[in-house]
Amino acid sequence: MTEPLLRVKDLQKHFSIKGGVFRREVDKVYAVDGVSFELKAGETLGVVGESGCGKSTTGRCILRLIEPTGGEVWFEGKDVTSLDTRELTALRRDMQIIFQDPFASLNPRMTVGAIIGEALIIHKLAKNQREYQDRIVELLETVGLNADHARRYPHEFSGGQRQRIGIARALAVSPKLIVCDEPVSALDVSIQAQVINLLEDLQEKFSLTYMFIAHDLSVVEHISDRVAVMYLGRIVEIASARDLYTNPLHPYTEALLSAVPIPDPTLKRERIRLQGDVPSPINPPSGCHFHTRCPIRQLPLCSTETPTLKQGPEGHWVSCHLRGG
Ligand code: SF4
Repeated sequence: MTEPLLRVKDLQKHFSIKGGVFRREVDKVYAVDGVSFELKAGETLGVVGESGCGKSTTGRCILRLIEPTGGEVWFEGKDVTSLDTRELTALRRDMQIIFQDPFASLNPRMTVGAIIGEALIIHKLAKNQREYQDRIVELLETVGLNADHARRYPHEFSGGQRQRIGIARALAVSPKLIVCDEPVSALDVSIQAQVINLLEDLQEKFSLTYMFIAHDLSVVEHISDRVAVMYLGRIVEIASARDLYTNPLHPYTEALLSAVPIPDPTLKRERIRLQGDVPSPINPPSGCHFHTRCPIRQLPLCSTETPTLKQGPEGHWVSCHLRGG
């Protein structure tokens, strides 16, 4: 069996909430609370969940843009959590991120050429000025922009074009893994499709591996090989995209899926409306985090015992006392 490109084991990120005159820790936000998964080279894992479920924090912890509180992240057999600053800089060549808000993530005072070229300088990827300029033009053309765009500033571009600049910047170092952190959430639906198509083309061309984060299942359906559904800092279900969309096992996945429009107007799907909002990750519910909203909960079992992810047929994992396994 081939070694996965990325292995995440029991990843945790707890943020301290400080209060009082002595700024002591008074509470904790359990943003990521024991996340485990593997990612094979060339695969796309969609990661879906409502806002605050910990999906973006998981992506950032993997790249160590924020430091995890606990757990392990292995990339090509290297323990990412134990790397020093120099080793981490070297690793960033292989692991990149595309952000949700392309405008906020692009320095407004830098030209697009300088933004894309920054990583070429940091990682010493161009031997001379000519090679540096040629590479910037090549990257711009790869994402559907042109050489003239290098002299312009981010505010001169539309949202979709700015996201293409963000993609070109990520590609500059020829990475293996890209964490796509809600890359199309801020874009119009028509532009979303263009950016997703571009990401798919680039994946094929450069053998990229994606962790594709989104807040709804319809966005990740076509691009993902597998999909992980997160709720309050934990993965509640993970399966191949085909299996998850046709045979969801977790009641939360069923509810998310019921909100996805079906293109065929003759087919109807009953909408499952969950009671209440997502509880605060400061004091998540005991037992199964989902028990306060679950339409099939069984008490006291679901409120006292934490379900573990159980593997079913064809690598379909679910975390529920009553389903799967
Ligand atoms: Fe619902 Fe219980 Fe399953 Fe949680 S463990 S999803 S509360 S049935």
